[in-house]
Amino acid sequence: MSGSFSAGDLRRMLSRLRDVMAGVGAVQGRLDKVVALIAQDLRADVCSCYVMRAGEVLELFATFGLSQKAVHQTRLRVGEGLVGEIAAHARPLALADAWSHPQFVYRPETGEDFFRSLMGVPMIQAGRVIGVLVVQTKDERPFNDWEVETLETVAMVIAELMAATQVVKREELFQSEGNVTLLVRLSGASLHPGVGIGVAVMHKPHVRIGRLVSDDPVTEQYRLHTALNALRQEVDALIDGSREDAEGGYGDILEVYRMFADDRGWISKISDVISSGLTADAAVQKVHDDTRLKMMQINDPILRERVQDLDDLANRLLSILAGGDKKTELPDNAILICRSIGPTELLDYDRKKLKGLVMEEGSPTMHAAVVAKALDIPVLAQVVGALTRIDALDQIVLDANAGQVILHPSEEVIEAYSAAVDARAKQKAAYAAVRDLPAVTKDGVKVSLNINAGFLLDMQGLADANADGIGLYRTEMPFLAMPTLPDVTAQLALYRQVIEGAKGKPVTFRTLDVGGDKIAAATVTGPEDNPAMGWRSIRLTLDRPALLRQQLRAMIKATEGETLRVMFPMIANIAEFDAARRIFDLEMVRHVRDGGRPPKSVKVGTMLEVPSLIWQLDALVKRANFVSIGTNDLMQFMYASDRGNTKLAHRYDTLSPAVLTVLNQIVQKCTAAGIEVSVCGEMAGNPLDAIVLVGLGCTNLSMSAIAIGPVRAAVRSAAMKDIQPFVRNLLNAEDSSLRERVRAFARDRGIAAG
Ligand code: PEP
Ligand code: MG
Repeated sequence: MSGSFSAGDLRRMLSRLRDVMAGVGAVQGRLDKVVALIAQDLRADVCSCYVMRAGEVLELFATFGLSQKAVHQTRLRVGEGLVGEIAAHARPLALADAWSHPQFVYRPETGEDFFRSLMGVPMIQAGRVIGVLVVQTKDERPFNDWEVETLETVAMVIAELMAATQVVKREELFQSEGNVTLLVRLSGASLHPGVGIGVAVMHKPHVRIGRLVSDDPVTEQYRLHTALNALRQEVDALIDGSREDAEGGYGDILEVYRMFADDRGWISKISDVISSGLTADAAVQKVHDDTRLKMMQINDPILRERVQDLDDLANRLLSILAGGDKKTELPDNAILICRSIGPTELLDYDRKKLKGLVMEEGSPTMHAAVVAKALDIPVLAQVVGALTRIDALDQIVLDANAGQVILHPSEEVIEAYSAAVDARAKQKAAYAAVRDLPAVTKDGVKVSLNINAGFLLDMQGLADANADGIGLYRTEMPFLAMPTLPDVTAQLALYRQVIEGAKGKPVTFRTLDVGGDKIAAATVTGPEDNPAMGWRSIRLTLDRPALLRQQLRAMIKATEGETLRVMFPMIANIAEFDAARRIFDLEMVRHVRDGGRPPKSVKVGTMLEVPSLIWQLDALVKRANFVSIGTNDLMQFMYASDRGNTKLAHRYDTLSPAVLTVLNQIVQKCTAAGIEVSVCGEMAGNPLDAIVLVGLGCTNLSMSAIAIGPVRAAVRSAAMKDIQPFVRNLLNAEDSSLRERVRAFARDRGIAAG
């Protein structure tokens, strides 16, 4: 290869390559010509084309200069040898002496003994490496940047031509051959467990705007209002569907959409932009972009998720304006792949055919995850490379239990996973079998199992899991996306629905826990440096007592003649509890003075999630009617470990001597004082943790509804006389995590703790 190769030479070579690729004949023949042509034009002794096959294996597909016997025989895994190295890092390599490179792997069948230098570049198509193009020379010679760039250009053109002319079909590229067993795995964070086996369907949310400018604002306004009407109808239909849907009940998320669709501020902004000369479509997009930008500037993860809802709504409106049909026909076993998705977009798909959801972004509190959970569809989020490495119709196994997606799985892998799906179905059936049996240990200790709820959709879980009540109702959840907090009437309607839905079972309402990782748009006053420890929750509502008063007023009204259980979040000291309690008492007086019937009984309690409160337990148990331990925040503050930081997710364990010692102390004090104590953090829903909590004497647990079955089974298979002494012993341990010890104990005693 010579440095005298010019830009003109390159152009001529590319056009000849195009002619060869576009010609007729077998795949092999055309690629053979291509490599010969490149070797000749670049004056190299060898040119080889390696193609990515199933299991991330690079196969020598065509060569000029190496032994033809090696074609389709020589295979290198990604990361193996120089070719594998180029593919693994998607970066070129240019070596005067390839043999001295530590990654060099000698393959005798290729006859490459005679070649010293090597220059190789990745062939990239649609953002993924589909092969490697290599040239070699007999003499030891350096390659300059221009030569590397030239080969990169050639590789890019070949990759594109391969795709465009279907010289090598995708199915052909990924056909499993021989005994190649390596799989491609992408990992992510599981938002809802389960296994889905199926084919990839790419979700396409973005609507392209055709016309931007219009000199007919009247028509554009008309188009906007017609589209808004259609939008309302669509959302109404989805709301109706959610009511009919046996597993559904996510209607309250959609109700928020409905309110957006009616929001005068939003509509008048769009109208103004239309008046300035844009089409209705461009105006919707512009207003959306502006709002989006503003929301993204607020340093708050939950609010950023609400941006997703806005995207969803704007896309829906744009697609109505474009007259498009959003419905995508799904194959029977579809796994949806997307960057992120809004709840109504998800609901547009036929849920019977939807076997899983894979997102490049996404997080547990996003609304689509809430809907997917209600529909029991496995979900994996934060899957790096989902969009670039997965193609439509790729075979996929989504294992949301293990947090991974497997691409191009072999028959054996599919069989193994099908068996796992069957096992899960059996396990579900086993939980269903104990559903109506009491949660009592083998030696007769009753454990109260309650659900955590935040949306009306969660209420369904109460009956499904046959839980004893709602141990934590997170009142902030439905309001997070709303521009202003709902008034007393709206709150009253919601709380009444909750009480009615609970059908006489106890409900513990928690007052607004906004701020920190749950800032409601309505209350944002500006970004904070450290929101988790900032002006949030009870701190905020004590400073804005009108919020707290309205909420308590609605709760008192909603429980006239019933039992009212209410608790305050993030209480850090007695003074805060007293202040909140005073406001509650004032509202009770006001309610009765206005002629209202008081609730039949009233219990006012507190969350215990800020460690400082532990040192005022003696005073607390005299005032509070009950204590509910929020282990999510308690862990976060005890270990100074951000609960949302995935890098820290496995660093500290709830089953650790420090946490157990603290929990033991709280349980002991509350029990001695005769007040109810429960745990409502995530740990209560993990069977192993739940058994330990019971061993500590905490027999009142609140968890997500799907955790009730496994925890019930665990409780029923354990005996207090075994777990109590075992757990007592753990308090003196020095291990960072006690999980393996607890697991071994459960195994030995036949405790069903999964
Ligand atoms: C907790 O902190 O443990 C808790 C239950 O509250 P939330 O998860 O809503 O902060
Ligand atoms: Mg909390």
